[in-house]
Amino acid sequence: MLMSGAQYMESMKKYNPRIFLGGQQVKLLENPTTMTVIRANAAVYDLALEQQHKDVMTVYSDYTDAVVNRNLHIARSAADLEKRAEMALLTSQVLGTCNYRCVGADILNAIAGVTWEMDRELGTDYHQRFTKHLKYLQENDLACSGAVTDPKGDRLKRPGQQEDPDVYVHIKEKRADGIVVRGAKVSQSGAIGAHETMVIPTMGMKPGEEDFAVAFAVPNGAEGITYISQYTPFTAERELNDPKYLGNPQYGQRETCIMVFDDVFIPWEKVFLCGETKYCGKLIARFAKTHRMNCGGACKVGFADIIIGATQLMAEYSGVHKAPHIVDKITDMVRICETARACSVAAALKGREEPVGSGFYQPDDVFGNAAKLTVAEGFWDLMKWAGDIGGGMAVTMPSEKELDNPETGEYVRKFMKASAPAEARLRIGKVIQNWCAGLHGAGTWHGAGSPMAQKMALYHLANLDEKKALAKKIAGLEE
Ligand SMILES: Cc1cc2nc3c(=O)[nH]c(=O)nc-3n(C[C@H](O)[C@H](O)[C@H](O)COP(=O)(O)OP(=O)(O)OC[C@H]3O[C@@H](n4cnc5c(N)ncnc54)[C@H](O)[C@@H]3O)c2cc1C
Repeated sequence: MLMSGAQYMESMKKYNPRIFLGGQQVKLLENPTTMTVIRANAAVYDLALEQQHKDVMTVYSDYTDAVVNRNLHIARSAADLEKRAEMALLTSQVLGTCNYRCVGADILNAIAGVTWEMDRELGTDYHQRFTKHLKYLQENDLACSGAVTDPKGDRLKRPGQQEDPDVYVHIKEKRADGIVVRGAKVSQSGAIGAHETMVIPTMGMKPGEEDFAVAFAVPNGAEGITYISQYTPFTAERELNDPKYLGNPQYGQRETCIMVFDDVFIPWEKVFLCGETKYCGKLIARFAKTHRMNCGGACKVGFADIIIGATQLMAEYSGVHKAPHIVDKITDMVRICETARACSVAAALKGREEPVGSGFYQPDDVFGNAAKLTVAEGFWDLMKWAGDIGGGMAVTMPSEKELDNPETGEYVRKFMKASAPAEARLRIGKVIQNWCAGLHGAGTWHGAGSPMAQKMALYHLANLDEKKALAKKIAGLEE
């Protein structure tokens, strides 16, 4: 059954995750920053109940013979992939932050195919276990975050060569009833507010690295898990300010944490890969395929829509919106945004069944990587033009609180007014500040993998031999 936002909030009362933020332990449902994650998740639940978003946010599941939230769906067609990307676009437009169920959704899709393959090739029962777990998630409409990124220590050393093996999540012990895992995952979007987290290896593993080849599901706040939240100037600002004066009052920043696994027990029924190094590369590659399509060409396009809207408003508020160079810059912003969106749509429409015979669909890898790369590069340009058109006030303006200050209110009203009143300019200026002088440039660059990873993938996928043959033919060179 689909949950409402209010039901989701109620359901989180029974979890008591061990969360630290700014050097102190905090309560999930009491802290102003952790509550932004809860509100964002609640909004995603509510979107699924809105008639106009039904097609994007929900889908029929033959696992449960019921309509389920698309965040828990395994894609069965190119049309499904397209809707998945549309969901990423919609949630970003509405929230201006993460759909914190996004990484979890893409991991579920990767695990579905890989466990199907393992059962066929190795005679394991991972896919059966996975299917049972998926049904449990769907029947209870649980929010599921996704944990891929290990701390990794020295990046040029393999997991087994690290001074401290805990910098990669690994199996510490195998028992009759399950496994004990140790290590950490970093930059975990919204894990504090999820019911469950799906965990997979951060990269392909080689023979000899069996202990690091592990995928599993773990409930929020399981014994041995500690969440250490990010702390940024935006966290401090939220602690100090009335949220109404912040650039995204309800949903805030993209909140992540370090998720520490200090000897966490995982029962066998929640383990979906355990030592099969050969399948780790496929798992991460399939996760990356869907995630780059969604994160790159859809989610960040939703953010871009907000940035473009705020920039156009600011141009109108300052009276410059008809100046040719402003029109040109806004047009360039739209071009960046729509190019990334086109790559994502193409990745979905060119999606294929993978593995063949499984009935599961994956997007086209070339277009997915192109979507992520286009947005990673393009986001800096979006921020450049928003900063240009917003003017210096996007970073120099006073607090909107001054408008209520009898000593300064009149000055601020008088000097911050342009074609629109000071209040509107300060409010939209804060939105621009939130995007352009904040966390989103680096966040967009690294989220779904640093661009070098996509460049390597694109170079590998590009059929250079075919291109060389074309060039030779046109030049009249002998083969
Ligand atoms: C806002 C945000 C949200 C995120 N949410 C999630 C989430 O929900 N779940 C999740 O699992 N992850 C999440 N991530 C993590 C994200 O996937 C990683 O940031 C990304 O994969 C890069 O890894 P890293 O941060 O460790 O960077 P690093 O590995 O430290 O990369 C830094 C630089 O080193 C280079 N580099 C790294 N390794 C090598 C090497 N071996 N050889 C040469 N150069 C190298 C990189 O190309 C890059 O230039 C999120 C990240 C961000 C920013």
